[in-house]
Amino acid sequence: MCGIVGFTGSLQAKDVLIEGLKRLEYRGYDSAGIAVDDGSTINVVRRLGKVSELDSAVGSADCLGGCGIGHTRWATHGMPSERNAHPHVSCDGSIAVVHNGIIENFVELREELQAKGHVFASETDTEVVAHLVEEAYQGDLLAAVRYAASRLVGAYGIAVICDKDPDTIVVTRKDSPIVLGHGENGSYVASDIIALIDATRDVVILEDDQFAVMHTDRIDYFDEEGNAIDPEITHVDWDIDVAEKGGYPDFMLKEIHEQPRVVRDTLAGRMDGNEIVIDELTLSRQELNFVDRVYIIGCGTSYHAGLIAKNLIEGWARIPTEVEVASEFRYRNPIITPTTMVVAVSQSGETAD
Ligand code: GLU
Repeated sequence: MCGIVGFTGSLQAKDVLIEGLKRLEYRGYDSAGIAVDDGSTINVVRRLGKVSELDSAVGSADCLGGCGIGHTRWATHGMPSERNAHPHVSCDGSIAVVHNGIIENFVELREELQAKGHVFASETDTEVVAHLVEEAYQGDLLAAVRYAASRLVGAYGIAVICDKDPDTIVVTRKDSPIVLGHGENGSYVASDIIALIDATRDVVILEDDQFAVMHTDRIDYFDEEGNAIDPEITHVDWDIDVAEKGGYPDFMLKEIHEQPRVVRDTLAGRMDGNEIVIDELTLSRQELNFVDRVYIIGCGTSYHAGLIAKNLIEGWARIPTEVEVASEFRYRNPIITPTTMVVAVSQSGETAD
């Protein structure tokens, strides 16, 4: 999960983007970046760390212009680094892309594009999108993005700008949220309504395989085949506090209702038919067969998730499983043998324990 934002209109895009990214920071915060078209060139600023780091860098950088895209990342492919932070650009820097999700067939696409001479600058799955658009671009950004989307397998919310199409952003999605905003000062896009609710309350929730072409004064919508469509504009009258809770009266109810989607998002990109594939798990089936005891260690919510896992592992695999509070584990004298497996769970990825 991550956050994407975009704006084209009569304000300085960088201010709108930074403000939007701050509101989306809950969606990902290992790095952040923006790309702003100054009318002839796309200037990209990216920073490792929080949006505040990016904000300081943007302050001193040369990125004036009314059209731009931004991203706050939660890495799935390629470590958190400035090089892997979005936006990603095409070989000649004329096209910039932000992406939320996972491109499952990026290895094949990257090899295909490299064979055609494209040079990659990052380790991300996302960068193939910039090169695919570059490969297909013949003066029509929508057509090029439609071609790129037709080649992608996976989950994506994507926003693309091109220096030859000033003041225009092309957006599409599949299994990742995208909201468009029709505002007085221009057109907005974001992964979540809360990023644009200060600017406009007239929004369109883009559906899978639809495309939006954002201009300063209007947004045009198209279906997968490229036919113009006229989606319903929803007027959101929540205040910002309610919006942050997704319309639910409190965060607890929101999180309960979000669980099916969160589980789906977590597994997206890790399913092969009905099989769950975890590439990072390098234990062979044979090695796993030797495991005769499991410790699950975690704190707080992770500890409680471990209690559910204990039920599943003992029920399905019939292997005795202990769940331990991670911060206490090191002070105990647990029985760990060469055939014990320890699973460490961290909800945030940042728990020091
Ligand atoms: N898969 C992309 C990456 O690793 C996007 C991750 C995200 O949604 O933040 O860069």
